[in-house]
Amino acid sequence: MGVIVAKFGGSSLATAGQFEKVAGIIQADEERRYVIPSAPGKAPGLTRKVTDLLYDCQQAALRGDVRQADELFAQVEERYLSIVQGLGTHFAIEPHLHVVHAAILADPEPDYAASRGEYLNGLILANLLGYDFVDPAEGIVFQQDGHLDEEATQKKLSELLQKHPRAVVPGFYGALPDGHIKTFSRGGSDITGAIVARAVGAELYENWTDVSGFLMTDPRIVDNPRTISMISYKELRELSYMGASVLHEDSIFPVRRRGIPIRVRNTNRPQDPGTLIVPHTDADDRQTSITGIAGRKGFTVIHMEKEQMNGTVGFGRHVLSILERHGVSFEHLPSGIDTLSLVIQDCQLEGKRDAILQELQKEIHPDVLEMHSNLALIATVGRGMIRRVGASATLFTALAEAGVNVRMIDQGSSEINIIVGVEEEDFETAVRAIYAAFVG
Ligand code: ASP
Repeated sequence: MGVIVAKFGGSSLATAGQFEKVAGIIQADEERRYVIPSAPGKAPGLTRKVTDLLYDCQQAALRGDVRQADELFAQVEERYLSIVQGLGTHFAIEPHLHVVHAAILADPEPDYAASRGEYLNGLILANLLGYDFVDPAEGIVFQQDGHLDEEATQKKLSELLQKHPRAVVPGFYGALPDGHIKTFSRGGSDITGAIVARAVGAELYENWTDVSGFLMTDPRIVDNPRTISMISYKELRELSYMGASVLHEDSIFPVRRRGIPIRVRNTNRPQDPGTLIVPHTDADDRQTSITGIAGRKGFTVIHMEKEQMNGTVGFGRHVLSILERHGVSFEHLPSGIDTLSLVIQDCQLEGKRDAILQELQKEIHPDVLEMHSNLALIATVGRGMIRRVGASATLFTALAEAGVNVRMIDQGSSEINIIVGVEEEDFETAVRAIYAAFVG
């Protein structure tokens, strides 16, 4: 029998009704042996996540404002009591709530406080499913400097989980060598799911959320974009970097290394197949010739031309050393025989633009030196798309026909995307034109 690790996000576990859906999903497939819950998230009428309430409660306790801390903890209590009562399981959550409340007041540590959202949800879910409860403080090991100790975690967690054939492991936290609780960054239950999937050698990591997978582009720009049915880790990385977000970025690495696929699914629409993230996809498996389109605003291009640039030893290094002197990093570096462009995030250049331009002029003596701000970058991602005959033609014809002026092109050496820079005001028009040209 294979093993599936199923992680459920905060909105999937926000109310008793959502818990029932989750239990239904787990019981529908007996391979779903390890379950990773987040803390109760938002739901209609419930505008604050339990994690946020816990952080606020801890802050109030730290300030010595016990009344405020008690009020906030009362809201946390209400969330859990209503879940337990709604489920009608007679699980005694109250003693656990009292321990947590007292501990936050006695020693207001942010990581401990925040982690209790997942911990308490884990206790309720384990009881509901009849699964063992495994505290990740026993198996997920951080180094004292706060970084995850991957090797120690893999060893300790796999040994621990061997003793528990079916278990609920709360997301978001582990422990430091001195025993203190340590959390991942926000949204980190995704990482726990990936770590558990790796530790048990799962055949699949399911990430259940409130959307039916990744969309091919931003639904605020294109009406009802299609869902991506399959995407490679690499393509996902490109799309996430350009602004598409569903999964915590760090959740990819643990499973990617083991080649474990991730399926993103919707707790409210379990009949939808969602998106499958795999080590490799064949360009031929896809219904459309591209995988997705994502973009971001807020870039500047510094463009330089100089005769014989290609023959000038150290030219690129000299240009980049000027950026380095100003503590500025670049995002892309498209170049031709005698041209070089630097694509930089606007925020990096604040207060430094003039000085950088002057130094480039003085030290590099370019024939042309131009700076364009208010640029948006758009990545059209699809494995093998650069080599596919006609892909660039389709892209640039679509932009030309939509009246969009392309300020920069970067096909880079990556074979999976073409990045164009357009004026920010053309951003939405450009995304719609590319989508229409490739997807319809
Ligand atoms: N509950 C945590 C947060 O709100 C972690 C998570 O949900 O993944 O960030």
